[in-house]
Amino acid sequence: MLGYERHDLVGRSVESITHPDDWLDNRATLQAALTDGGKRSYRLDKRYLRVDGSSLWARTSVAFDAEPDGSWLVISHVQDVTAERVSAARLEWAASHDELTRLPNRFHFIEQLDGQLAQGRPGSVAVMFIDLDNFKVINDSLGHDVGDELLRGMSERLRARLRESDLLGRFGGDEFIVAIADVDASISAVDLAERLREDIARPLQTATGELFVSASIGIAYSIAGSSTADLLRDADAAMYRAKARGRDCVEVFAQATHDSTVMKLRTSNELRHGLERSEIIPYFQPIVSLDTGMVTGFESLARWRHPDRGLVTPDQFLPLAEETGLIKELGASMLRSSLGQLASWRERIPALAGFTMAVNVSVRQLMSRDFRDLVAEALAVTGMPAESLTLEITETALMNDTKAAGQVLRQLRSLGVHLAVDDFGTGYSSLTYLKRFPVETIKVDRSFVSGLGIDAEDTSIVDAVIKLGHSLGLTVVAEGVETPLQLTRLRDLGCEFGQGYLFGRPQPAELIELAYAHA
Ligand code: C2E
Ligand code: CA
Ligand code: CA
Repeated sequence: MLGYERHDLVGRSVESITHPDDWLDNRATLQAALTDGGKRSYRLDKRYLRVDGSSLWARTSVAFDAEPDGSWLVISHVQDVTAERVSAARLEWAASHDELTRLPNRFHFIEQLDGQLAQGRPGSVAVMFIDLDNFKVINDSLGHDVGDELLRGMSERLRARLRESDLLGRFGGDEFIVAIADVDASISAVDLAERLREDIARPLQTATGELFVSASIGIAYSIAGSSTADLLRDADAAMYRAKARGRDCVEVFAQATHDSTVMKLRTSNELRHGLERSEIIPYFQPIVSLDTGMVTGFESLARWRHPDRGLVTPDQFLPLAEETGLIKELGASMLRSSLGQLASWRERIPALAGFTMAVNVSVRQLMSRDFRDLVAEALAVTGMPAESLTLEITETALMNDTKAAGQVLRQLRSLGVHLAVDDFGTGYSSLTYLKRFPVETIKVDRSFVSGLGIDAEDTSIVDAVIKLGHSLGLTVVAEGVETPLQLTRLRDLGCEFGQGYLFGRPQPAELIELAYAHA
């Protein structure tokens, strides 16, 4: 097997024909067997050296016995397993590498990064997610062979730029991943990423001509306790930000953005659940006739009865509801439950019989195609007359798209519901538009009412708004009335209705009932 002649072998030590890397192991195994009284045999895989210096993998089974004269009789059975060994190594390599680029694959890269993080060396580890921006187009239009050539070319460029100790892997498709240890000590990861980006952006000469690709790169740094999974996730998120920023650039993962995105996601999921579980309910704030001092109706204001956070006000969930589109369901639910509440009051509590209900409507809701039907249905289901309902629409919403808004408002008005312009004075509406919309009420924004009687400018604005409203035949409601002084001024100016803490805060239905049940 080793190529020696018989006479060459006689007198040679085992050591002299054993691969030097395997001798220590060989000797230790042999000695252990010799000192273990009962055993007298061992098995070992080791390399022998052939006469030409090449090595041979052998599986050896060795048995020995002590001769009466104190010497040892040793019988060794040696099997050449070189072929088996090589194919096992090849299999192992294939399972852990990408055939095309010969880089570690996802599985193996993660294993290597795990190992690097486990060493717990002081410096930080930076992980970079590199995604080619327009690879798919090239692959689809020029064919897979060209795509393969490109991937190989890019992986060579990446490898050439990196140090021996840096990890580089292919994550699949057109994604590469890099891990660099000791970033703070040796290099700036951002500088390196910029260089990698430039390397990739250089044209690649191929048989079919010059190819251009760019790359989006996301970087995440390890902090104490970061796991491989954390780093990969964060680098991936940063890479997506780089894509979103317009590609061909480098982004560093920022914990703050991550937190706010996660927070947003969590809250929007929670909001959806809250809606399903009817945790979003209307509170009711009285609207008072300044003439008589009597309550004539309520405005319904959304509140979230959150199982953990307690009562949550709309400023904390409406923006998210708008952003996610949940506002449509939220608005529909508020409309139905507010009208349902009014119907129940009208039926059971005589003192509330003639009351009206004002419900807020967001632009998205107003402009959704089935909004008119939704309103009609809510009225039909609750049996409430259309005149009992006022829809409040903010001035800014109406000014967004005046033509479309006018059309929707006319449809709604034809149902018989009343329309009010909310937060009036904040949205720069022009008189012409106001005249064109079929609205009957304007609600003067709280910010002007608060300075009434104290701030000269506020006072003249409220004065002007009320006059303007009246000249157009509109009814005026003042929002945010908190003091008797404001009330007096509003009365003097001829304002018809008021709403504010002076008359009552928004309250849950049960408390409203308690107040009116024995009135
Ligand atoms: P808004 O329609 O202008 O409602 C009046 C807001 O002023 C309410 O705030 C109310 O609680 C508050 N307020 C009433 N009187 C006074 C007062 O005397 N002083 C002070 N400082 N504040 C007073 P809230 O309930 O936090 O609602 C905020 C906004 O959220 C509402 O402003 C409305 O635009 C929106 N909103 C509330 N519920 C809904 C809803 O169901 N759908 C839609 N689309 N928007 C809603
Ligand atoms: Ca309102
Ligand atoms: Ca308002």
